[in-house]
Amino acid sequence: MLMPMTGDVPDCESCGACCAYSWEWPTFIGDWDGEEIMEHLKEDGRMRCNGNRCAALMGTLGESVFCSVYEHRPLVCREFTAGSDACHTVRSQLGLQD
Ligand code: SF4
Ligand code: SF4
Repeated sequence: MLMPMTGDVPDCESCGACCAYSWEWPTFIGDWDGEEIMEHLKEDGRMRCNGNRCAALMGTLGESVFCSVYEHRPLVCREFTAGSDACHTVRSQLGLQD
């Protein structure tokens, strides 16, 4: 997630929907516990969120965004695929596409 994409795949850098969709989503799973991520951005085994928006998401949703912990982001974030059904679902629910 949050990698620039081209063609018929949405551009993550002008989206951010999956980072602002659910406070329960950016959890640490597997062996990765986010130890490289600053404490104030973490909470109870997941990324801290403000409402549904991950605290590490910078910028304006649907305009220009970036992940401030990109190199250390949780596995779930790494595996979320731009252009997937889930991607289009969260974009639709946040009003970023039809
Ligand atoms: S919802 Fe899709 S396009 Fe938007 S940031 Fe996430 S993966 Fe990228
Ligand atoms: S850690 Fe980064 S990629 Fe993962 S939800 Fe937060 S802002 Fe998005």
